[in-house]
Amino acid sequence: MCRHLAYLGLPVSPAEVLVEPPYGLHRQSWSPRLQRYGTVNADGFGLGWYAEGDPLPARYRRAGPIWMDENFADLARVVRTRALLAAVRSATVGTSAEQTAAAPYTGDGWLFSHNGLLAGWPHGLDELAALLDPAELLTLEARCDSALVWALLRRRLRTGLAVDQALAATVAEVVRHTEARLNLLVTDGRVIAATAWGDTLFHRLEPGRSVLVASEPGDDGPGWIPVPDRSVLVATPEAVAVHPLDAAVEALK
Ligand code: GLN
Repeated sequence: MCRHLAYLGLPVSPAEVLVEPPYGLHRQSWSPRLQRYGTVNADGFGLGWYAEGDPLPARYRRAGPIWMDENFADLARVVRTRALLAAVRSATVGTSAEQTAAAPYTGDGWLFSHNGLLAGWPHGLDELAALLDPAELLTLEARCDSALVWALLRRRLRTGLAVDQALAATVAEVVRHTEARLNLLVTDGRVIAATAWGDTLFHRLEPGRSVLVASEPGDDGPGWIPVPDRSVLVATPEAVAVHPLDAAVEALK
């Protein structure tokens, strides 16, 4: 994905978060302001959200550009949620163009997005793929480097590791085997965790009300804070913590 965003807080419609902001994710699909790699994000999009009282998210994903989809416009207007994760995609060469490769990926109650790429996809990544069980490889959500990263992260999360540690361990694991840009973003509807590793990332906290974590600001209003490259972030509507990732990744490598 080339631009992604997660929100936690007071109930909102996805339209308020994604479509109405002047430079929001919807607009970032054709006119991102800070994107370092690629120009438009028209190779698919996805929205994942949590409904009240249900720990498992719902998703709406499509292979085409977000601005072509009337169903998305309706859905984004009428849904109400306290937690969502959305992404617009600029597909990496050699990966699947299908809907299944549009984030958010899901599993075990999580939503996941990856902005970046793994150098060498697919043939240079044999060692990385070999870390997975055959069953995990056979059930990858898509023929895409991001699906591989999600499978690696998901097995870390399943061990019960804290989400920031699971992210650090996954970044370390990937960069041990290949060069990569790894802006990762996950939520379980209660917490957002993310890495900045090669591309832009920002957060905006309104304490007690909401928190946004996004590839780039959706407006020119106050409160957007850039996340330094090579950091890991954990956010709730109460607080945001950002830590450097370099030392942790070196140690785990
Ligand atoms: N490699 C991922 C994909 O193809 C992400 C691409 C991106 O960030 N532009 O979906």
